[in-house]
Amino acid sequence: MSKNKSSESVKVVVRCRPLNRKEESNGPGGDIIQMDLRLGQVFLRNPRAPASEPQKTFTFDAVYDAKSKQRDLYDESVRPLIDSVLAGFNGTIFAYGQTGTGKTYTMQGAWLDPEKRGVIPNAFDHIFTHISRSQSDKQYLVRASYLEIYREEIRDLLCPNHGSTRALDLRESPETGVYVRDLTSCVCKSIKEIEEVMNVGNQARAVGATDMNEHSSRSHALFLITVECSQPGPDGRKHIRVGRLNLVDLAGSERQAKTGVQGERLKEAAKINLSLSALGNVISALADGRSGHVPYRDSKLTRLLQDSLGGNAKTVMVATLGPAPQHYEETLTTLRYANRAKNIQNQPRVNEDPKDALLREFQKEIARLRAQLNHRKWRNKQKKDRVDGESWERDREEETEGEEEQEEVEKAAEEYVKLEEQRLEREKEAIREDRFLLAEEKQRLLGEKERMMGDLRKEQEATEQLTAKYKAMESKLLVGGKNIIDHTNEQQKMLEVKRHEIAEQSRNEREMQQQMLAQDEETLELRETFTSLQQEVEAKTKKLKKLYAKLQCIKAEIQDVNNEHVTSRQELEQTQNELTRELKFKYLIIENFIPPEEKNKIMNRLTFDPEEDQWKFQPLVPAESKSLQMKKRPTSAVGYKRPISQYARVAIAMRAHSRYRAENIMFLELDMTPPNAASLDRSAEAELNQSPSLDSSPTKDRGVRKSRSWCQTPKSIPSSSSNVSLAACHAATPTAAQ
Ligand code: ADP
Ligand code: MG
Repeated sequence: MSKNKSSESVKVVVRCRPLNRKEESNGPGGDIIQMDLRLGQVFLRNPRAPASEPQKTFTFDAVYDAKSKQRDLYDESVRPLIDSVLAGFNGTIFAYGQTGTGKTYTMQGAWLDPEKRGVIPNAFDHIFTHISRSQSDKQYLVRASYLEIYREEIRDLLCPNHGSTRALDLRESPETGVYVRDLTSCVCKSIKEIEEVMNVGNQARAVGATDMNEHSSRSHALFLITVECSQPGPDGRKHIRVGRLNLVDLAGSERQAKTGVQGERLKEAAKINLSLSALGNVISALADGRSGHVPYRDSKLTRLLQDSLGGNAKTVMVATLGPAPQHYEETLTTLRYANRAKNIQNQPRVNEDPKDALLREFQKEIARLRAQLNHRKWRNKQKKDRVDGESWERDREEETEGEEEQEEVEKAAEEYVKLEEQRLEREKEAIREDRFLLAEEKQRLLGEKERMMGDLRKEQEATEQLTAKYKAMESKLLVGGKNIIDHTNEQQKMLEVKRHEIAEQSRNEREMQQQMLAQDEETLELRETFTSLQQEVEAKTKKLKKLYAKLQCIKAEIQDVNNEHVTSRQELEQTQNELTRELKFKYLIIENFIPPEEKNKIMNRLTFDPEEDQWKFQPLVPAESKSLQMKKRPTSAVGYKRPISQYARVAIAMRAHSRYRAENIMFLELDMTPPNAASLDRSAEAELNQSPSLDSSPTKDRGVRKSRSWCQTPKSIPSSSSNVSLAACHAATPTAAQ
């Protein structure tokens, strides 16, 4: 990969956990790892090799030994990354290592002990402290999501019924890159809220698993934080920058036993390892730099981390190690993996004004609510002014920009409501006491006042609801420069700044030392001048020895890598054999037990979905071809409900014959004998029946369709009942009224 100006490499740090009790009881000689903290080097001793064999040395951006504190790792290696995220970059931190080496401890740690809080809680503190200390013209929106990848399926950990819901899909858009569709995202206003989100997710993770340790060692957990920041730019418009932070606790990197298992178990084992081996392949392809194709699409994890590996992001990898001799092989694999990752180049850039910024939508909604509220308050104030007899009036409520004026309007609006209530109460009292009014009139007036009061209350309630909605919305946006406690705590702030400076310095120092070491080796020969031959021989012998040792080291390394390659190849071959066997078995069943036409039907329905990267069945009858399959109505039947014979047409034209009635229901001559209304001889009814107007009949309002005989003119319809109205159509029979 070519280096350009804005590219930077993935930062790789290594952390070794202390020996645990069980390992300690095995004796003090158990430690196989040594570290040079100043140079950032790790030395690994092979416990089974003779003591003369040289140790393996690896150099990283930083190393943390068993005594290292969570805070040190955070300040030195993570803080700069979070600062970048707050400035609008994408950032990723992932913990890689064997199960039990401290990935979860590093990422989460013990929440209750401030000394042992891991990267994630420290990042929460960092983000929210930064927001509270920033200038007041900045607005922030922070949201969080939590997901896990288990057996190549993505599960939303913030969705209440996470276990039962179906796995989520990955989607890709040109603007945001790869994202998870329908993933829950919680807006967080404080550290407490975001911690709550984390806890909910952790609990969901534990509930879904029968054996937590087993589950967490086989699944990847991704905590995603998006920080959107809006700030007025030099052009006077508000610009939004979006920083996305991925905090990833990977599955245990140890080899899952694949040999000797078959069927479902085999597929499961293959799937569990798939994401991690795909990650390894991606890292290798990127580190190699020569291969054009990077297999991001091989797994869900690599697709999600696509930007973090060789793309638009700043990335820190924390490789965790265990010091016990029995895990020598795994430790070595982890170190090699981490060493390769150092070579990956990323091209981070600030995400400025992306189209999908939620902050902008929030700002628009808040503005809309505020305008609505202002409008209401202005209306009330104007009413009050009218009551007060003031002629001063304004057309546009938006003109109230000044705080004082705003307050005045608010006060006036409140006062108006109070005064109005009092006035109505007084009027009610006056009505009650008025002896000249009739009881009925009194009741009516009181009712009216009551209704007015109800309206007033409703109006007020609506305003209150609107205010609550507005406040809730507004509180989600965090504004800088509001933390008063922080201002009083200057000393602590200074202390923090000093600590960051020290971390920065030690980082620089290490970088310089590493550079010096590399240069030293190159220029050793050039600088040396010898006074005597003897001295020259000595110096050169020393150098020869050194180089020879290095050569041996590299030879051993090559041997190791070859061996590792052979084993993994064997394993892959074995998996391939087993999968081929299974495939042959399936083919055998298909060829011998499934009829060829059935097979063809299934084959024809298969289509490849490039979006989801898998084969899918098409629906049985494709929706778009449905209309083509339906027969068109023959043109001979224009104007009729269905094809109709010539004879039928003639018959209809001649006379309504019962056989052809069904051709058109509208032309039906309904057999409507009038109801026997003789017993219902009421004067009012008779009166109504004589009404000649059809329009005033209630049946019209009721939407009753009037049926008419196709060969007779309509008559006026008496409308005492809908039943009768229908009967009226029957021209042959006179209606009851007639
Ligand atoms: P993983 O997530 O890699 O499987 P864990 O984070 O669960 O491993 O760590 C295993 C155990 O080791 C835990 O009990 C944890 O407290 C302990 N541990 C890991 N790293 C450290 C460390 N740096 N200091 C102290 N204890 C640690
Ligand atoms: Mg873990």
